[in-house]
Amino acid sequence: MTSDSRRLAEVAERIIPGGVNSATRNIGAPWAWRSAKGPTMTDMDGNVYTDYHAAFGAILLGHADERVNDAVTRAITDIDLVGVGTTELEVEAAQLIVDAIPSAEMVISTMSGSESTFQAVRLARGATARPYIVKFQGGFHGSYDALARNVISAPDRAWKRDPNSSGILDDAVDNTLIAEFNDLASVEELFALHPEQIAAVILEPVPHNVGALLPEQSFLEGLRALTRKHGSLLIFDEVITGFRHALGGYQELCGVMPDLTTFGKAMGNGFPVAGLAGSAEVMSNFTPSGGAVMLAGTFNGNAVSMAAAIATITVLKDPEVDFYGHVYGLGDRMRAGLQSIADEHGIAARMAGVGSVFVPYFMDGEIRGYRDLLRNNDEASATFQRRMIEQGSFMYPMALKRNHISLAHTEADIDRTLAQAEDVIGTMAR
Ligand code: PLP
Repeated sequence: MTSDSRRLAEVAERIIPGGVNSATRNIGAPWAWRSAKGPTMTDMDGNVYTDYHAAFGAILLGHADERVNDAVTRAITDIDLVGVGTTELEVEAAQLIVDAIPSAEMVISTMSGSESTFQAVRLARGATARPYIVKFQGGFHGSYDALARNVISAPDRAWKRDPNSSGILDDAVDNTLIAEFNDLASVEELFALHPEQIAAVILEPVPHNVGALLPEQSFLEGLRALTRKHGSLLIFDEVITGFRHALGGYQELCGVMPDLTTFGKAMGNGFPVAGLAGSAEVMSNFTPSGGAVMLAGTFNGNAVSMAAAIATITVLKDPEVDFYGHVYGLGDRMRAGLQSIADEHGIAARMAGVGSVFVPYFMDGEIRGYRDLLRNNDEASATFQRRMIEQGSFMYPMALKRNHISLAHTEADIDRTLAQAEDVIGTMAR
């Protein structure tokens, strides 16, 4: 790390815990950034990186996209935050979201994915008057206490309670049950153990917090049938998959309709905006509709967030832009390119992913669930991504982390990154 970045990072460390505003931003080196534009980000010393981290997937169109930034600027010359009633921006954003997400009849805006999953869980418990929530090993749903039982850590922790924070009361996680992804029997077992006590099953339809586990269609359909049979709600946490894999999220691709959908990250292309959508029947349990589940948030629906979401979704819908064609094409090129490099060098690797997301797993054999990922060579993953950063392609340097391609990336970017990967994988093979 070079001098100006180090200087700023050192000041940050003195006055911000660990020098970062979110724990996983600390990657063990003092990074500090001056700017981010299109597919690149530039550190304080002027080093330019092709960005595949994309702020954990919050960037979809490329950094500082003019269409989004101009829309935000225009909006805030007219209105910022009124905090009573509604605004044209809120109604326009809500309409775009309800039109886009197949299972959505009503939607609320929040400021983060964690608030959305928190609201979803509270709404599910309020609507069903039941305590338990089922989540899956490897799934991550944000920092809310009831869902912070994380289970994405080391092999010896698999299946043990793993609240990834002290300060979380046992009560908060005791009502969160863990099942195994792609294993319907593990969910059936929990329904049998806790009859009429499970409020909801929440899952990332593609668990991207451990890279890219692909859901089996029968598993998703089975969850839908099982939750319906037992009077529980099915919650798709589409905070990563939403808007990224299809305008209507992963539910559009798999055709399985959840009762509730959470989304966030990419929909504002870097601006803070998230939400929760669902059927009118379930969403009417919120207090403003006369229900009993509290809904509150000073900044919900503010002009910046709404304008950013409207502008981003408008670009995604534009057939001339062909966002999905572009990123799926580049994603395929990246995955195929990386796979053939690893194969040529005799390195055991699975270049996984969906559309714009690519994940280099360093392992062989079948990948169905979280347990399989315990076979990944975590050191090789971290080494690969760290060396790719040194070459100029920024990939979050930790095992099981995903990478993201944006609308601003080009074939030339992908090919340059593949040439760098050839060097990196070549040295790893030696
Ligand atoms: N849900 C999923 C699937 C996520 O990946 C995340 C964040 O990484 C969240 C929820 C929480 O979102 P936020 O960080 O905006 O609170």
